Amino acid sequence: MADTDFDVIVIGAGPGGYVAAIRAAQLGLKTACVESRETLGGTCLNVGCIPSKALLHASELFEEANHGTLAKWGVKVGHVELDLEAMHGGRREAVKGLTGGVEFLFKKNKVTWLKGHARFTAKDSIDVAGTAYRAKNFVIATGSSVTPLPGVEIDQERIVDSTGALELPQVPKRLVVIGGGVIGLELGSVWRRLGAEVVVVEFLDQILPGMDGEIRKEANKIFRKQGFEIRTSTKVTGAERKGDGVILTVEPAAGGAAETIEADVVLVSIGRRPNTEGLDLDKAGVAINKRGQIEVDHEFRTGVEGVYAIGDVTPGPMLAHKAEDEGIAVAEILAGQIGIVNHEVIPSVVYTYPEIAAVGRSEEEAKADGFEVKVGKFPMLANSRAKTNRDTDGFVKVVADARTDRVLGVHIIASVAGTMIAQAAQAMEFGATSEDIAYTCHAHPTHSEAIKEAAMAVSGKPIHI
Ligand code: FAD
Ligand code: NAD
Repeated sequence: MADTDFDVIVIGAGPGGYVAAIRAAQLGLKTACVESRETLGGTCLNVGCIPSKALLHASELFEEANHGTLAKWGVKVGHVELDLEAMHGGRREAVKGLTGGVEFLFKKNKVTWLKGHARFTAKDSIDVAGTAYRAKNFVIATGSSVTPLPGVEIDQERIVDSTGALELPQVPKRLVVIGGGVIGLELGSVWRRLGAEVVVVEFLDQILPGMDGEIRKEANKIFRKQGFEIRTSTKVTGAERKGDGVILTVEPAAGGAAETIEADVVLVSIGRRPNTEGLDLDKAGVAINKRGQIEVDHEFRTGVEGVYAIGDVTPGPMLAHKAEDEGIAVAEILAGQIGIVNHEVIPSVVYTYPEIAAVGRSEEEAKADGFEVKVGKFPMLANSRAKTNRDTDGFVKVVADARTDRVLGVHIIASVAGTMIAQAAQAMEFGATSEDIAYTCHAHPTHSEAIKEAAMAVSGKPIHI
């Protein structure tokens, strides 16, 4: 085999691509991974999951000290000061450590990193920086980028996308977030905790589309209580830079009189779109759908022999762990093994305070899918650990099939919902009924006991309420 020939070439080194490449190499396939960024790890490690969580963590610590949460527990810190540059340093360090870690894993597993932008020249060959490479199989894992908003030009200074919002050199006095989805609420939380007034402008009549209705309402209430100004059913029609600020023009989503909102910084976070531009997919014969995504079957085949696709570039939730699991499965399929991802059980977490987590169907989705449902709910206010820690906002909701008692979905809004959701995902993967969860012994005192109690509430028998 020539140096430029491989069993598998993965295009893109995000959580989907780098994991696929490592797994393929572990399974004995000669593997290369093309990445045009300076560092490995894709959106998630460089400008997504990791840096945002670093700032969420740091800003939470600041708020705890600054707003007296620590003092309420007898931890007096005196004058609290923000060193934003040190906070950014912590973020950069987290990114450097993890992206460097992927580079180490590539070396350890003998994955060749092809540096540059890949373009197909045929279904079995690509060009990277002027060199032709061939492979028996290609995995497209090119991820996604920010969806632009016409009339609101991103300059990464005053009008930023999520990447710019992670790097603001100063805390804005007034931040206007366009889009009340995951990014808007997470990064809005960071800057609100550090002192910004935050206004969220959402096109729909409720924030967090796709989540369970009751969770969305509760989140709306909690975020408003925290000081977010949330303007739903509102659309942004234009933005104009004026001095050191921006004037946004908004109007009711249904149409009506326009008005203006002033901001120091505007964050555009209205969703992400798949990266397929510049790949010359037509040379490989791979088609994209109306939303620009590459459609695949349950074995990640694109319809062109030897060309597969995974992660954000394909339909489904744009989540790092979904991409990773698809990366493992596609590599196992390429090595002649069975690779499966259960797309019915993909948890999602919004890392605000409190966290919001879900797995499976919302109550609305379950009903729309024709299920007769039974619902059990348990408030964190009645959970002993949450009461002790004084983090009682939120509740757990279990949605079960009324006929079989099988759990169809679990929805949590609670300080540590992201950690709690793992057991719900595992239970659903094992086909659990609400009774299975209710009769599983949960350690006391833990927030997770609220899941047990919500499961007990499905059949009307919670203890602590
Ligand atoms: P990506 O991570 O986007 O990686 C694709 C890579 O391919 C990129 O590095 C790109 O440079 C490269 N590439 C593209 N085209 C080419 C080409 N032609 N040649 C060579 N290289 C190419 N998800 C979570 O699950 N949890 C979170 O907490 C979370 N937080 C997020 C926070 C933010 C601010 C953002 C923006 C996203 C967040 N996400 C989170 C989403 C997560 O980042 C994505 O779902 C995930 O990165 C998708 O992985 P991927 O491998 O499909 O693509
Ligand atoms: P999103 O889809 O979560 O939210 C976008 C929001 O913008 C929606 O509420 C939508 O109704 C609204 N919107 C759309 N057009 C609008 C307009 N013109 N004016 C006002 N509002 C408008 O998208 P996002 O927050 O940009 O995040 C992108 C992706 O990144 C998500 O799919 C998410 O899965 C992923 N992500 C995940 C995490 C996490 O897992 N914690 C964190 C960040 C991002």
